[in-house]
Amino acid sequence: MSDSSDNYKRSTVEPILLYDEAVRFLIVKTPNGKCFACGTDMWNISTKEESTDHCFLRKAGGTISGAPAYNLELECNNCGLIRTHRSEVMLAWLAMNPKTEDASRAPENE
Ligand SMILES: [Zn+2]
Repeated sequence: MSDSSDNYKRSTVEPILLYDEAVRFLIVKTPNGKCFACGTDMWNISTKEESTDHCFLRKAGGTISGAPAYNLELECNNCGLIRTHRSEVMLAWLAMNPKTEDASRAPENE
């Protein structure tokens, strides 16, 4: 009977970063995000095998404010260079800047 572990588990849950939201963040925050090595601007974002709507986040190994830190990795489509963004920074910005309805791209009709 060890119910004291519940509180600890709650803070170790892996954050969820949606692929579309990651793209939205990167377009706004890194508009000139060219590859440091080859200069192209074609990046791949890896997604989870079980859900391609969710970005694959790699556990960074450390903690920030007591919670585990996770990184989003982008891979250059041309030379394979990996660049990393801290997912907590991305999620904090996305929470502060929710998607607006007046997006220029119309939603798909069904
Ligand atoms: Zn490159």
